[in-house]
Amino acid sequence: MDKYCVFGNPIKHSRSPFIHQSFAKTTKQTLHYDTCLVELGSFTEAVNDFIAKGGKGANVTVPFKEQALTLADELSDRARLAGAVNTLTFKDGKIYGDNTDGEGLVQDLLRNTVQLENSRILLLGAGGAAKGVVLPLLAQNPKSITIANRTISKAERLIEQFNNDKLIVCGFEQTAEQEFDVIINATSASLSGKLPAISASIITSNMVCYDMVYGKSVTPFLAWAQLKGASRVIDGLGMLVGQAAESFDIWRGVKPSVDPVINELRASLNAE
Ligand code: NDP
Repeated sequence: MDKYCVFGNPIKHSRSPFIHQSFAKTTKQTLHYDTCLVELGSFTEAVNDFIAKGGKGANVTVPFKEQALTLADELSDRARLAGAVNTLTFKDGKIYGDNTDGEGLVQDLLRNTVQLENSRILLLGAGGAAKGVVLPLLAQNPKSITIANRTISKAERLIEQFNNDKLIVCGFEQTAEQEFDVIINATSASLSGKLPAISASIITSNMVCYDMVYGKSVTPFLAWAQLKGASRVIDGLGMLVGQAAESFDIWRGVKPSVDPVINELRASLNAE
């Protein structure tokens, strides 16, 4: 049976095995997908060991996405520009690295009928997740993508790679002087119950607010956005399933349907 896994540390709570096994069931593919806890400093060894055991592909999560980038023999453009790999494919003695996080986000926004074309997008954060979504967002032909980060120099470094005049950088405070249609929170602030320090004045009733973080209850950023008048808020559960669907397609050549898996995961989150 074809073997896949997700490498990470910690990894116990990963939902990837559930997601990929659900995809396999609905697309009638036979495969095995497991978690693989990797000791820090042993990533290359773990990947080579998995390949030796017949592994066909793997997802990579925190903290190994950058190491996966250097390990790959060949990279997709989106992985190179993201500076991180979340999908490895082992084929013909080579390791191929890709990054499906950004496409997962874009597909989730489109699934939620969010208008991206010609939109003014505010992207909060300049870490790995923000970097990974810039190219797929640009492919949707937005009017502009403003990247605001707590540490502005990181956002400036991020846009240098893209050389695209639709990309604008500013600090959190400067966002108050602008208007946006979509806000995407790609900071990890919600994980620690915090908010990116943006002004409530930019929240309008017809904008869409998206948080890459998800959980049992609404994230602090989305709760705040709702309180300030945003009528449409979306969390990152669909992005998680979307990036997995992209990986599955790369490995198996078939695009699984994401809705049943998102619904099941949402129900299990609510029951926790
Ligand atoms: P990184 O550690 O690479 O980057 C963290 C980012 O958050 C930086 O821009 C950092 O700013 C900012 N930040 C952290 N705390 C605060 C705060 N209190 N206020 C303002 N900004 C803050 O993380 P990633 O980019 O890899 O991940 C970001 C988030 O996206 C995580 O929460 C992760 O769980 C989520 N994610 C979700 C996915 C999904 O499938 N739903 C996929 C990938 C990521 P600074 O540069 O100033 O430190």
